[in-house]
Parts: sequence; C-alpha cells; structure tokens
Amino acid sequence: MSTIGFIGLGRMGRPMSTNLCRKGFKLLVHDVNMEAVRELEKVEARAATPIEMAATCDIIVTMLPNSEIVRDVVLGILPQVRSGSLIMDMSTIDPLVTDRLAEECARKGVEFVDAPVGRLASHADRGESLFMVGASEENFTRVRPLLEAMGTTIHHCGGVGTGTRTKLVNNYLAIVSCQTNAEALALAQRFGLNLEKTLEVLYGTTAINGQLKIAWPSKVLAGDIEPGFTVNLAHKDLTLILEAANAAHVPMTVGAAAREAFNVARSRGHGLNDFSVMVDVLCELAGIKKPRLKD
Ligand code: NAD
Repeated sequence: MSTIGFIGLGRMGRPMSTNLCRKGFKLLVHDVNMEAVRELEKVEARAATPIEMAATCDIIVTMLPNSEIVRDVVLGILPQVRSGSLIMDMSTIDPLVTDRLAEECARKGVEFVDAPVGRLASHADRGESLFMVGASEENFTRVRPLLEAMGTTIHHCGGVGTGTRTKLVNNYLAIVSCQTNAEALALAQRFGLNLEKTLEVLYGTTAINGQLKIAWPSKVLAGDIEPGFTVNLAHKDLTLILEAANAAHVPMTVGAAAREAFNVARSRGHGLNDFSVMVDVLCELAGIKKPRLKD
C-alpha cells in the first residue's frame, strides 16, 4: 500500500488521520504544532516535512484552517510533487482558491480533489464524517478508500470545485440556523418557558433543525462550550460564503447580519468556544439566564 501524506492535525485533521492509521494506511504527517505530530506518532504515523511527502507520497491530504494557508502549503510543495500524484484538500476554503490550485496542479501534471467535511468534530472522532467531493470519476475512485476510512457518507458532487461550493451552501444553513436558534431560545428564556417542553414542541414541528436537535443538547444546552466548531471558524465560513455570494451577485441579507452576530461573539472573547455558544452571548447581552437542560 502506498504512503499517504497528511498536513494539518488539528481538531479535525487529528481524528481523520488517526482513523486512517487505525484502518491500516501508512501515514507521513506534518503540522506546525509539534505536539499534534507527537500525538499521531502514538498511532504509528511518521513525522515528515511537506517536501519529504511531496517526494514520496502518491496522495497528500491537507486539512488546514483557511484559504491562505492551504494556498501557501499547496503551492509550496507543488514544485516537488511527482507528476501523477494527487493532492486532496479537505479544508473549508474560498472556491476561487480551489479553482486556482486545481489549475496550478493540472499545469504540473498533478491531480487535485476538493473534499470538505460535513457534520461535527465528534463525528470525525468516530469516523462518521460526511464528505462533499469535487473530482473527476477517476480521481474519485482513487480517493474513495481513504474517505471510507474516515467517514460513513460520501457524496460525489461533480467536477473539481463542486465539493467546496456544496460545503459553503451547507455551512450557510448550519451556521445561520445557529444564530436563529440562539434568538429563539433567548426569547423562550425571557418568556420564562420550560426549556425541555419548548424543545419537545420545536422537535415536533417544521421549526426542527439539525443544530437544535442533534448538536445543541450535548453542547451549550448541557453547559459544554468546548469546540467542536469554533465561533472563529463559523465567522470565517460566513465571510467566505458572503464573499462568494457577492462575487456571484446573490444577495444574502440574513447571512450578513448573522456574520456580524458572530463578530460580536468574537469581540466578547468567545472566538475559541463552540459556535453553539451564540445563545449564551445573546443571553449575556440581554441579561437573561442561560438555557441549560436538567441533568
Ligand atoms: P484547527 O485550527 O483545529 O486545525 C488546523 C491545524 O492546522 C492546526 O493543528 C494548525 O497547527 C495546523 N496548521 C496551521 N498552519 C499550518 C501550516 N502552514 N502547515 C501545517 N500545519 C498548519 O482547525 P480544524 O477545526 O481542524 O479545521 C480545519 C478545517 O476544517 C477548516 O477549514 C475548518 O473550517 C474545516 N472544518 C472544521 C470542522 C470542525 O467542526 N472543527 C468541521 C468541518 C470542517
């Protein structure tokens, strides 16, 4: 079996690469944070520089924080990547950067796939992620065994760039619903409603949504605001989404307001908390008791 290179071992990259190792893939790993690399060495991955990966790996995966870092890392290794090798970026980034990287790779005879990740970090821990893949048929077949080792649901969305674009559409709804849930539950708190009963009602009508039903009961409503998906990442994604929508002349007025709500949360020191903390931020601002489920 050929060796896989994996760059970016953070909240998502760490469980994803760990699952690859556990399923028998041989991994070279890299992160600017050496502590993250040491953790992966415990599951038999080997530390390597990106240049070493470029020279030896058939497939290199990137799972990095933002567009600029992905661009710098991919363009940094590209001169050393062997023709016929494949780079798969799984980060959430600007689709125009995805397009540019795919073009630069094609010029070098290197294949490029975008495969951003859906669902929560806890799903990544359990190897239950969902992937939105932009790739040619041939490259999709090539990366499929890796995706099967890291997740349970794989969508081939179309050619290169469609994975990233699908991810932005998905995250728009997931992140904006976080803000609308926050407003609704702050109102319920102000009204003095019983939280358990209110949720029971909402779960039985069309008000239901994934954040409220799946994520929140074990996060903010249980008093856990450890990320998960941070307020900083939600703000970054809304910025990407609004820029992409503006470039495409699609108005997103609710999205623009939601982004500023996440900016308020950042300015109040919540940037590194889970994005479900938005309800606490609103309750703090309005002087309302934070909603918490009974044990
Ligand atoms: P993270 O900040 O936890 O991890 C990023 C890792 O990249 C860190 O370990 C950091 O040290 C490393 N890094 C930064 N610059 C580097 C460089 N130049 N070279 C090598 N390593 C570098 O972020 P995350 O939560 O793992 O998210 C990664 C990507 O996945 C983001 O684009 C995010 O939007 C997306 N995403 C996150 C979640 C989530 O729930 N956290 C879910 C789906 C998608």
